[in-house]
Amino acid sequence: MDLTGGRSANLSPGLVRALDQFRAVVDAQSDALEASDARFVCPIPCSGCCTPNLFFITGLDFLGVCHHVHRSLSEEVRADIVLRARALVAECGLEEALRLDGAGGDGEPNIVQRCPLLDASERCLAYVARPTPCRFFGRSRFQAGEANLCAIIAGRLGSELAHTALPVVEQYSRALADALARNLTAEEMEAVEPFIAVSTLPILISETAFDPTLILEVCGRTDFA
Ligand code: SF4
Ligand code: SF4
Repeated sequence: MDLTGGRSANLSPGLVRALDQFRAVVDAQSDALEASDARFVCPIPCSGCCTPNLFFITGLDFLGVCHHVHRSLSEEVRADIVLRARALVAECGLEEALRLDGAGGDGEPNIVQRCPLLDASERCLAYVARPTPCRFFGRSRFQAGEANLCAIIAGRLGSELAHTALPVVEQYSRALADALARNLTAEEMEAVEPFIAVSTLPILISETAFDPTLILEVCGRTDFA
């Protein structure tokens, strides 16, 4: 798997296999979620959760995004995305990202944060490789009880919300971790572990310009740990 579109990525074979496993598990979980209840299937197109939210994602999620954009998008389109990400980071800044993260999802952004991967037609340019939070936001709940619902799905559930079994975010994370531990060798797990650290999509794009060899420099920061 060439993650850089020709440039040497210097990624270990174990990490590449780990990414394949990760994506297979996330795809299967996402498919199972949508098969469990038709009301959980997002309308197409819909970018309602791609504008006000600032998702924190793992380095592994972003590795998948890098693979996708190098394989599917032209250099010109990728450069436009990087410009949008840099403009957003300049406007929003690290402090705002951390403030929203600390607010536990209840913080109101100071500015309109539009994901740099959204195109002019409100389509996600990395849809098939979209990060894990993008797949489960809007139709799940947190273990502590609070709903992780968007207005569209909440409206569909209406008064049935209290009686509807919503998938639990933390259970998805645990199932993902268990599946990786089951399917990867100890050496592959060692390669993947540093990529479990997180950052935001705009910061990752703006600082790596989709060069996967730079991911750990962003995700490895202790201020995001
Ligand atoms: S989670 Fe909600 S806002 Fe996001 S794409 Fe699905 S329906 Fe739209
Ligand atoms: S990566 Fe795609 S799905 Fe996720 S927030 Fe950005 S545009 Fe939306």
